[in-house]
Amino acid sequence: MTDHAVRWIDLRPREDAIDVDAAIRRVVERGWFVLGPEVEGFEAEFATATGSDHTTAVASGTDALTLTLRGLGIGAGDDVITTALSAVFTAQAIMMAGARPVFADIDPDRLTVDPAAVEALVGPRTAAVIPVHLYGQPADLPALAAVADRHGLALVEDCCQAHLATCGGVPVGTTGVAAAYSFYPTKNLGALGDGGAVCTRDASLDARLRRLRNGGQTSRDHHTEPAAHSRLDEIQAAVLRARLPYLREWTTRRRALATRYRDGLREVPIRVPPESDPGHVYHLFPIRTVARDRLRDHLRDRNIETLTHYPTPLPAQPAFADMEPNHSPVAAAVCGELLSLPLYPSMTEAAVTRVVDAVASNNIGVVP
Ligand SMILES: *Cc1c(COP(=O)(O)O)cnc(C)c1O
Repeated sequence: MTDHAVRWIDLRPREDAIDVDAAIRRVVERGWFVLGPEVEGFEAEFATATGSDHTTAVASGTDALTLTLRGLGIGAGDDVITTALSAVFTAQAIMMAGARPVFADIDPDRLTVDPAAVEALVGPRTAAVIPVHLYGQPADLPALAAVADRHGLALVEDCCQAHLATCGGVPVGTTGVAAAYSFYPTKNLGALGDGGAVCTRDASLDARLRRLRNGGQTSRDHHTEPAAHSRLDEIQAAVLRARLPYLREWTTRRRALATRYRDGLREVPIRVPPESDPGHVYHLFPIRTVARDRLRDHLRDRNIETLTHYPTPLPAQPAFADMEPNHSPVAAAVCGELLSLPLYPSMTEAAVTRVVDAVASNNIGVVP
């Protein structure tokens, strides 16, 4: 193959490089490295960007979910319903809070959790539901909010793949009581390491989260409850502040690349992700084909990197083998068909064309 590689992702700073360098230098010169002015500034700016009243920065998206549940008083003896198709950390966060994850099947087109499946699983122990705005596509929030209301459940949104997404024009993360974000480097807004945040309109939940992330501390040497140790570094906060002003432009770019893929693949017998809402932010672009493994090998032979999000439904992960048996036939079938094509803001249109041509040149045959 003479063509150079189409990489899965490229995380090196580009148009933001000068701002990122300046942000790091500012923190080093100030000499204040944990929970300082950069974290405070980022919290205020991210709250504004996401349409929430309060943001508390923590060490990861997983901690954002775990601490939100703990902040809501959800833990041992409680069930939390979530989707069968997500990053494993959604369910690990529920376990880390001491609660039990219950997995609901997905909508076969949207690939986010099916509100009817959630409602069917509500029982006496159910305390919360955590939909995931998977791949940047908002889950069906109006229907999920109705289920949560009917049964008195806390609705916590996993926004780790959905920075700036909207659902029916409403920013994701503002329908539920709280929203968890990740700033892992590959996310739509990424740090140069781990990071996360909880956004909420609930001032008392926010105040509790500030204690929970910092040893239960209410004032110096005074700790009122058992808590975690989960803080965002000043350097990461400064990097996120440097990048946040670019996020709208990067999101527009992701949508444009997705449109290019969609147009290019129109005649190819694979399924492209449906856009159930124009507020989709295309964290990933997973196509579906029953010949997934063959297509992956075909692209690899042409020097095009792909990944699978996700090869295994969550209830089939050994980590959750002790949970109640659960049947998610849609998620199980879809997991065998998914293949994520490269998509990131600095990807060129020529690279998209190369991927499209390579997918089209794989004689997959007609797929239902
Ligand atoms: C990345 C991710 C998480 C976990 O975030 P971390 O920052 O890696 O802990 C949780 N849920 C989803 C859907 C994610 O994509």
